[in-house]
Amino acid sequence: MKVLVLNCGSSSLKYQLMDMADKAVQAKGLVERIGIPGSQLTHRRGEEKRVVEQELPSHREAIALVLETLVDRAFGVISSLGEIGAVGHRVVHGGEKFASSVLINASVMAALAECVELAPLHNPPNIMGIEACQKLMPGVPQVAVFDTAFHQTMPPYAYIYGLPYELYEKYKIRKYGFHGTSHKYVSIRAAEILGKPMSETRLITCHLGNGASIAAVKGGKSLETSMGFTPLEGLMMGTRSGDLDPAIVSFIMEKEKLNAEEANEFLNKKCGVLGVSGVSSDFRDIEEAAAAGNFRAQLALDIFAHDVKKYVGAYAAVLDGADAIVFTAGLGENSPEMRQAVAGGLSYLGVAIDPEKNNVRGKEVDISMDGSSCRVLVIPTNEELMIARDTVEIVSAS
Ligand code: AMP
Repeated sequence: MKVLVLNCGSSSLKYQLMDMADKAVQAKGLVERIGIPGSQLTHRRGEEKRVVEQELPSHREAIALVLETLVDRAFGVISSLGEIGAVGHRVVHGGEKFASSVLINASVMAALAECVELAPLHNPPNIMGIEACQKLMPGVPQVAVFDTAFHQTMPPYAYIYGLPYELYEKYKIRKYGFHGTSHKYVSIRAAEILGKPMSETRLITCHLGNGASIAAVKGGKSLETSMGFTPLEGLMMGTRSGDLDPAIVSFIMEKEKLNAEEANEFLNKKCGVLGVSGVSSDFRDIEEAAAAGNFRAQLALDIFAHDVKKYVGAYAAVLDGADAIVFTAGLGENSPEMRQAVAGGLSYLGVAIDPEKNNVRGKEVDISMDGSSCRVLVIPTNEELMIARDTVEIVSAS
């Protein structure tokens, strides 16, 4: 079956067409500036690239252009849209309603609309993408794959905050966790690499990208994760503050004269390694500045590594030990320095990194010393493949 994987953001859209017979990516691309002057599509087929500049007022026109390009005689990869067996949509927030991926129907759409309150920036474009596909590809089954679903296995003592319980009942304020598709994918790969049944694994999965989160995964189930009610909690990230004393928020609002919306924007967009370093939100720039002697850039890296290490230690406690620590996403896959800074002081856990094996970027490798009891794995994440797999599984079973 060929599956179109769609990840719709507010003004952008990423897509991949996968042939699940051999898991090959037939084409992929990115549409940018949807609803903003200067819209463009960048389509890739293997090494070939095609850029189309065309005004795209909404996700509907953007998806129509993607479909047109996929069947284009010169640049396409399929002869007709009938070849697309299903569409898999990344949906950010599934609330408590969705603990797994789901075939989209009218009642699912109604439930998705109810989740908008929990992710007002992310869920509306996801829903727009689904509605556009329903119009443009009637009859083609569509599946929603949620960032939050994998973490729905957390026990209540992990997801309930120290707030009056009524706030959970009234507003559903609780820890949800995100990056679930990535944590699930690397957990499955880690069990395969370790040669153990998933049911017997204890894994600490570190998704370290511009957004960053860690999960404690036991027997294939998420027991804890660092992001919370929103992606703001947990590790300090590219531009997000991560964990703070909650009293700091009202203090800053008062001192800097920020309203609630501005404070939220500030904590999500102006903080993290960008705020500490004053250099950039991009770890490559920060590593470069730190190497050139920039004190604040080095401080940002040190805080980040310290945060990750703290969570790894906490999650080792949650799991009663760990069989492996997994590094994934942009920084986790590509920065030997950060991996060394995190795992360098974890000998009490049985972690020992082999510096030669650690000298790797973007490849699936076990970077532990031979014989060390807690393995350290670098596993490039593949959320699109995970979405496509779930889509095939659900469509085949329906
Ligand atoms: P992601 O959100 O997974 O795309 O990850 C983006 C982050 O990964 C950015 O902060 C990048 O700077 C970082 N990253 C990507 N490649 C490298 C690299 N070679 N060295 C250090 N950081 C990297």
